[in-house]
Amino acid sequence: MKNLKINNRFTAELPADPNETNEIRQVKNTLFSYVSPTKPSNPTLIHASEEVAGLVGITKEEIQSESFLNAFSGKEILPETRPYAMCYAGHQFGNWAGQLGDGRAINLTEIEHNNEFFTLQLKGAGKTPYSRTADGLAVLRSSIREYLCAEAMHYLGVPTTRSLSLMLSGDQVLRDVLYNGNPAYEKGAIVCRVAPSFIRFGSFEMLTARNELKNLKEFVEFTIKHYFPEIKGEPKEQYIQFFKTVADTTREMIVHWQRVGFVHGVMNTDNMSIHGITIDYGPYGWLENYDPNWTPNTTDSQNRRYRFGNQPQIAQWNLYQLANALYPLVNEAEPLEKILESFINDFKSDYKVMFLSKLGLFTLTDTDSKIITGLEAVLELSETDMTIFFRNLNKIVKLDSVENAIEKIQVSFYLPEEIKGDILDSWKKWFTVYLQRLNQEELSDEDRIEKMNQINPKYVLRNYMAQLAIDDADKGDYAAINELYLLLQKPYDEQPEHQKWFAKRPDWARSKVGCSMLSCSS
Ligand code: AMP
Ligand code: MG
Repeated sequence: MKNLKINNRFTAELPADPNETNEIRQVKNTLFSYVSPTKPSNPTLIHASEEVAGLVGITKEEIQSESFLNAFSGKEILPETRPYAMCYAGHQFGNWAGQLGDGRAINLTEIEHNNEFFTLQLKGAGKTPYSRTADGLAVLRSSIREYLCAEAMHYLGVPTTRSLSLMLSGDQVLRDVLYNGNPAYEKGAIVCRVAPSFIRFGSFEMLTARNELKNLKEFVEFTIKHYFPEIKGEPKEQYIQFFKTVADTTREMIVHWQRVGFVHGVMNTDNMSIHGITIDYGPYGWLENYDPNWTPNTTDSQNRRYRFGNQPQIAQWNLYQLANALYPLVNEAEPLEKILESFINDFKSDYKVMFLSKLGLFTLTDTDSKIITGLEAVLELSETDMTIFFRNLNKIVKLDSVENAIEKIQVSFYLPEEIKGDILDSWKKWFTVYLQRLNQEELSDEDRIEKMNQINPKYVLRNYMAQLAIDDADKGDYAAINELYLLLQKPYDEQPEHQKWFAKRPDWARSKVGCSMLSCSS
């Protein structure tokens, strides 16, 4: 891989842990520990993204090479690099969890390519000082889910980490999927993911909680200098501006999640990137029937803290924790509070514009909030598939009658027999208002529909689709991974040859593990 340009800023400039063993421990006064990936016994490449390879300077031909296989399975270390695990802390499910760190993620190196910087990170490459009670490994099912979903999100236009490669380690990993005392061996796998950096809110929280204020200052300044070079001015101004930038990009990311129906599932502060990109794909899921209370994460099924409709509030809560972490540098609450306060208002106005655009309404009027709350309420009356409903709005034209319009979205109802009486009346009422509103739009039907088709995806990684690819991959058949990968590169295109994936969740997937419910076991 002759064009890989190594440029390790993180390890060159920040304090390292002097202990280089992977013994589990509390690691103080440092931001990372050097570690060696565990050598996999028989790595094989399942899939790699040519586009992501190109981003970091790896050619198509090099993807097939022995050195690619070895480097991104952890078998060999890239020349001039020293892999490391990052030390961070965080709040999990609303509670302070203390030190967490990369328990099964290992950063290989930072790469500079075409004046951009990327960190390459292996997930599932073995133990680190932060592995706590676990093994540092990852299973094939969760690796496929992360690999495919990150790329799917990218092509949907949602900020995210990227996936470079998916490999089998050749080793077996013991997991108790349902946490019910039935552990079983599964195939181990390793994903290499790529991001500008893997710095999280929890990276800063840890330093402040430990009162390591000198490290905090150094780290914030390092972060701004390298990852937010556009921020200039007096130090205190810079810290505030940094917080504002993180709040803004986080808000934009959440608006996208709500647009496409993505539920992260574990929005702990250690899973929040400072770049406002989606990170750490664990028990995530996609809304099938539109239900703001839905969460895929069985660990959260009681409180539903991370349910779809709560994601904006949780993002704000997480930003509060980041503000607290930065406070010792700013020493003034007001500017941070102002940013936090405006977060929800700004979110609401962005959400409104986004939601109206999903409806093909691009000219704002005072009544528009009602059309949104009205639709949210009626969507919940009877299970309605979010993706199909919004995509099929592109069939509706200004001259349609209410009956015609309902007919066109009929296929999105999971229980069509329920659409009668009061429920049907509610739909009729909503469509009456919608059609009136549509007729006030200046755009022609054709132009409006073209725009809507770039906003409402036709194809998302439905929970059962990933599971089908996983079931085949477990048997050694990777064709479905490739098929979904290609399909999800063009989520807004009609792709009539893939029409079978534009379908409601099949009945068998309604309550199948891995489809509608996922545990954190991965
Ligand atoms: P997550 O819920 O995946 O964000 O993980 C929370 C913490 O547990 C992080 O510090 C992870 O690195 C760690 N962790 C999760 N799974 C494993 C594993 N199999 N081995 C070691 N550490 C893990
Ligand atoms: Mg995590």
